[in-house]
Parts: sequence; C-alpha cells; structure tokens
Amino acid sequence: MSEPKARGGDWTPPLPANPPQGRGTSDEGRSRLEGGPEARSQQSEPLLEVRDLTVHHGQLRALDRVSLRVFPGEVYAIIGANGAGKSTLLRTIAGLHRPTDGAILYDGKDMTKIRPERRATGGIVMVPEGRRLFGSLTVEENLKVGATYARKGPWTIERVYEIFAWMKDRRTQRTAQLSGGEQQAVAIGRALVANPRVLLLDELSLGLAPVIVQRIYAMLPQILSTGLTVLLVEQDVSQALRVASHIQCLLEGHTTLEGRPSEVTAEQVEAAYFGLPGGNGGAGSLPVSRGGLGGIVPPERTEALWHGSTPSSRAS
Ligand code: ATP
Repeated sequence: MSEPKARGGDWTPPLPANPPQGRGTSDEGRSRLEGGPEARSQQSEPLLEVRDLTVHHGQLRALDRVSLRVFPGEVYAIIGANGAGKSTLLRTIAGLHRPTDGAILYDGKDMTKIRPERRATGGIVMVPEGRRLFGSLTVEENLKVGATYARKGPWTIERVYEIFAWMKDRRTQRTAQLSGGEQQAVAIGRALVANPRVLLLDELSLGLAPVIVQRIYAMLPQILSTGLTVLLVEQDVSQALRVASHIQCLLEGHTTLEGRPSEVTAEQVEAAYFGLPGGNGGAGSLPVSRGGLGGIVPPERTEALWHGSTPSSRAS
C-alpha cells in the first residue's frame, strides 16, 4: 500500500537556517550538535560496544566480525549500500536477531543474550525501518504505546508535542492518514517517550523526499540536548555525514571504513561504499578489502550517493 501524500497544513518544522550543502565530509551542521566529535575523545568508556559481531540469516553471513564503540552523546552513523548489513546490525543490537558470534555490551554489561524487551526497558530503543506504526490507532495512542514501559526521564508525550508542533492538534488522527514524514515523526516520538539512553534510528530517510528528511534530521540537536546517544543507519550518505560525529561504512557485512567525517575524504567514502580497491589511508579509516564493483562505478551511482537521491530516499 502506498503512503498517503502530504496535505496542506502538514508538518513543516523549520529547516536549519543554513542547511549544509554539497558533497564530501564537511563539518558544517555537526558543530551544532551536542556531544559532537569531542565526546569521543573526552570519554573513556563507550556506552554501547559491539565486539566481533557475526550474524547469519540462514546460510547467509549478513555480518562478519563487525565491531564498533559508541560513546555517550555521540551521533554514530552506519552507512552502506543495499544489503550491506546495516539493518541487521541495528536489529541485532536491539535483540531482534541472535548473533552467531561476538558480543554486545551496554554500559559495560554484556547484553548479548538479553531479551529485546529488557534491552528496551534498559534504554536501547529503536525506530524501525518503515516506521511500523499502528495505522488504525491515533497519533496519541501510538505515543502511549511507546510510553507503556518507559524509563524515567525527560521525555513525555507533551514534550514530543513541543518539538513536533503540528502533532498536538492532530493527536486524534489515525496515523494511517498521515504523510510519510509525519509518520516518521510519530515513530521518533514513540521511541522518545520510552526515554532511551541509546536511540537506534533505522533509515529515517526511507521513502521520504529529501526536504522532509532534512526537516527530520533538523530535530536531532533538540533530541541530543536531553543527553541521548544516537546510532543511526542511513543510505543517504550526505545526510549521515552532516549529522554524524563518527561514521562506519559496511559492505557485504564487513567494515570498510571507520572514522570521523572530518577525517575521511569523499574518495575514501566512495571506495568503501562501493567496494573499490584503494581509497584508504586517511586517519581513522580501515583498509577497503572487498572487491565490490571492481573499480568502476557508473557516475549516476556516485551522484546518488552524494545527493541523497538513492532509490529509497526519493520523494514520496
Ligand atoms: P537495506 O538498506 O536494503 O535494508 P541493509 O544494509 O540494511 O540493506 P540488511 O537488511 O541488514 O542490509 O540485509 C543484509 C543481508 O541479509 C541482505 O543480503 C539481506 O537480503 C539479508 N537479510 C536481511 N534480513 C533477512 C532475513 N530476515 N532473512 C534472510 N535474509 C535476510
């Protein structure tokens, strides 16, 4: 079923005054975020750590010894093409897939065998790919679902209405009647009212027009100001580089690049994303080891990488 179109008077939160533009690894935009790159150097212990995680879907090895460390206050972005293993990684952290090998540590404790609902009540909350709202329930009813087993913390339904100003007036509307961007906002609100410490965001841009994606990401500073840590998965590389303090690129279940956006070049990101030889060598980067496209990437594919117009992020 296709998503309903946006209607007049729909959600129109402001865009950032000077939205960062263009290709590459500019620091623009990120400096506004609490817990930026500094957070990593100032913190000694990660809030979330993944060690040598291997996950299979049947015979398919979707993740192969992937590791990461997310420090408090960070926005950590996982990038990569379709099928790279990004969602598998996030869902395994949330407890929805059982790893074949490796460990997940949260606040220093081993969470690898903890049930998903206990991870959620412990503070690891996910906004799933495709939103997964209850379409027949109203906006407020969906938010109440998120608040059912909430931790204590700053986020309430009223607080969500403060950051998404349109939502209060439409709280009695069924979410199936909302536009894709509005539904995404409700899905974020539903996660926030659970008062997470770590917010897992899976492909916020999926199926949304680039301008709507920018508006959604423009909310991140307000969300981060309450002390949250964010691990996000994003196919829209430009967007990920704008908001993240740290990025990691996956390709066919392997890490091909990792570092601060300011430390990696556009060429390295492209090489890591498409699996080209070379492109490594920058600070924080890892060798690009996969064969991928054998060194030839059609121009339209690299354009898509940088303009946020991957198939999944084209307008709805
Ligand atoms: P996308 O952006 O397309 O969602 P992704 O990077 O998130 O890609 P995953 O969804 O994690 O990638 O998928 C990684 C690989 O695992 C793909 O080859 C995919 O087809 C496969 N896969 C994912 N989920 C399952 C599943 N439940 N059963 C079988 N195979 C799966």
